[in-house]
Amino acid sequence: MRSGDRPRRRVAVVGGGFAGLAAGVALADRGHEVVVLEAKRRLGGRAYSFRDAATGVVVDNGQHAMMGCYTHALAFLDRIGAADRVVRQRDLRVEMHGAYRGAASVAAVPAPAPLHVAGALLHYRHLTGLERASALAAGLRVLAMRRRRDPFLARATVAELLAKLGQSPNACRVFWNPVAVSTCNETPQRAAAGPFVEVLARAFFGTRADAQFVFPRVGLSELYTGLAQEHIALRGGRVEIGAQASVLEIDDGRVSAVRLRDGRRVAVDACIVTSPPEATRALLPRAIAERAPWCHLTALGASPIVSVHLWYDRPVLGTDFAGLIGTTTQFAFDRTRMCGTPVEGGGSQVSAVLSAAHEEERWDVERVASVVESDLRAVFPAARTARVLRAVVVKEKHATISCTPEAERLRPGAETPLDNLFLAGDWTATGLPPTIEGAVLSGDRAAALASARVEGMASMTEAADETLQSAALASVGGR
Ligand SMILES: Cc1cc2nc3c(=O)[nH]c(=O)nc-3n(C[C@H](O)[C@H](O)[C@H](O)COP(=O)(O)OP(=O)(O)OC[C@H]3O[C@@H](n4cnc5c(N)ncnc54)[C@H](O)[C@@H]3O)c2cc1C
Repeated sequence: MRSGDRPRRRVAVVGGGFAGLAAGVALADRGHEVVVLEAKRRLGGRAYSFRDAATGVVVDNGQHAMMGCYTHALAFLDRIGAADRVVRQRDLRVEMHGAYRGAASVAAVPAPAPLHVAGALLHYRHLTGLERASALAAGLRVLAMRRRRDPFLARATVAELLAKLGQSPNACRVFWNPVAVSTCNETPQRAAAGPFVEVLARAFFGTRADAQFVFPRVGLSELYTGLAQEHIALRGGRVEIGAQASVLEIDDGRVSAVRLRDGRRVAVDACIVTSPPEATRALLPRAIAERAPWCHLTALGASPIVSVHLWYDRPVLGTDFAGLIGTTTQFAFDRTRMCGTPVEGGGSQVSAVLSAAHEEERWDVERVASVVESDLRAVFPAARTARVLRAVVVKEKHATISCTPEAERLRPGAETPLDNLFLAGDWTATGLPPTIEGAVLSGDRAAALASARVEGMASMTEAADETLQSAALASVGGR
């Protein structure tokens, strides 16, 4: 059936972040009347940019990195016409710098996948010869564990997994932990092994392109929010900002309308909620909110990310981005090299990231900035003589849920006990850590289910599978 032949149904989407906009775009493409309701006066949720008042430069709330294996996110960007707003590495290459160790790279070698990543590990000079072989063997073992759905992966933390795989403290410090903290936004002692292994498998044991890093070349808000909004509007839908949903009206086990804080009522055929866990629970009448799965949503903890944007009077990193070993700062990105972010007089703008920043989030901003500046001086010789012109610290206390094994057991799926209510968001059960890819995947999945529901299709699961498969195929074909 062509989308034009279908009855036009109204689906409301609560939340205008990656998940909500991806769901809205997918539904609009299927010919439904989409109403995206975003509480804030801007779109983008936890992935947005703003103009720094002093320099006039657009900076992100925090540097976001994607990878080639983000098939749903990249397909979404393609679909809204944002493909040229990202820059893709030619091949996997990450420089890791330590104050007393110098620099060594994890860089793909010219060999067919997945040997390109095996070669990268075998040449990584921060590991001893024995550690390189052991890391490679560990990679193969986790793949086998994933394939046979080993229950250990569902209950273990990353640290427990690495101990089981016999990884040395040095291998954890210079390789495994930086990968785990940056992908899961949680410490290895707390992060769940399952989503971590999923990222390893998809990024490093897939195609060559899967392992490449992909970065926005524009501010995050410019990357996707306006284009997604236009895409939806062109197909007869609308995206409203400053439209906070306050309660879902429920009749006979179905959502009949979304009541807004400003008193308006939006009647719906189906609803997708993508707001964070607590906000989602707050939308439900009390009697329902106290039942499963809703009552578990309060138990999904939060993990912070602290970002520091620094303006230097000269280039200091000497590379697009780098990982730091043995410092509070974990990764630093030269935004001027990567995206041409201007700094007067030939200077550079560097964005530093502190993931799982449980402690640093409580520091005052002066202390955070000063520790990051001193980390960069310790690791990058050019930073020692450079002058810092300006520092902006952004603390995201609820950057993501705390992706622990306990949280993995509680993250709800897209379907709910209410017939036409579906959940999406990076915090729902995607099998992935809470990331852009998880958010978009969940939005696509919820859209497929809601679409099937309003079209009265017999098998919702079949339809969801069909849509997810075609999204994945479109993304593969697009590369
Ligand atoms: C600093 C930082 C760095 C990050 N780095 C990376 C990275 O490098 N790579 C990566 O993949 N991911 C990264 N992430 C995670 C990524 O940003 C998130 O996974 C993604 O943005 C989540 O999107 P979402 O749509 O699920 O949720 P959100 O972006 O939180 O969207 C939910 C929306 O719902 C709205 N809302 C809430 N309540 C209501 C209501 N009652 N009515 C209407 N609207 C409501 C909110 O305002 C919000 O806009 C990072 C996150 C942060 C904070």
